[in-house]
Amino acid sequence: MSAIRPDARAFDQLRPISFTPDVAPHAKGSVLVSFGNTRVICAATVEEDVPRWMKAQRTPGGWVTAEYSMLPYSTLDRKQRDISRGKLDGRSSEIQRLIGRALRAVVDLDKLGTRTLWVDCDVLQADGGTRTASITGGCVALAIALNRLMAEGKLRDFPLKQLVAAVSTGIFQGQAVLDLNYPEDKEAAVDFNVVMTEKLEFVEVQGSGEESVFSGDQLSSMLDLAKKGIGEIFSLQKAAILEADRKDGPLLADLSSLLR
Ligand code: UDP
Repeated sequence: MSAIRPDARAFDQLRPISFTPDVAPHAKGSVLVSFGNTRVICAATVEEDVPRWMKAQRTPGGWVTAEYSMLPYSTLDRKQRDISRGKLDGRSSEIQRLIGRALRAVVDLDKLGTRTLWVDCDVLQADGGTRTASITGGCVALAIALNRLMAEGKLRDFPLKQLVAAVSTGIFQGQAVLDLNYPEDKEAAVDFNVVMTEKLEFVEVQGSGEESVFSGDQLSSMLDLAKKGIGEIFSLQKAAILEADRKDGPLLADLSSLLR
């Protein structure tokens, strides 16, 4: 018997996903990504410098890094800003490192030149899956920004090798389900976050039993669901990148081959 999900979705059904590009006009690339009621503003900005450790180690190329934050009004109870608490939330720190790793997996840092791409992910509304929405939207913001750097003649080759996206899966009422919302996440026995590239190779898998254990079969089911979900997300990411690109003029050759 299959679990009845709180929002009546099928076990393998994503929430409605949408991307609104260019919500932050001063950023080089930005997007508002929605996975159901989870909404995250992802914005990429360019700094014409690299971190001190790269200079000290004479590491060539550029850097891509991310910051993640939940806005105070993104949660049901107001979440105090880190600056008011005087320290960075451990969860945010873990999530922003995950986002950075995911994005760097698909960027050729040598082709970036001596510059840093900052990808800021600010959660406007949290309803489960904010880290996976941040990776998925962060990749779109990054692609738009890189395309604009190409158009400005600041890059010789397009540094984005392929797209990356992420989705959550989990075991809810004994069944593997795709893209958990908060009521499911709160009750889930297992929480899984999967990051994959367009070639359906894994970048990272974060999975844990919450006061629970899971079988090899359940693990396979969750990975299969993640693959199915992420496969559906890539075409939506591409449409959002193309929408931003259309405003900027003709498609760049590199971008069009990436988005084929
Ligand atoms: N959440 C919250 N306050 C917090 C942390 C989390 O309300 O300080 C909620 C929020 O809806 C979030 C969900 O719990 O999306 C699941 O959190 P988790 O740490 O599993 O990360 P996420 O699923 O958002 O990547």
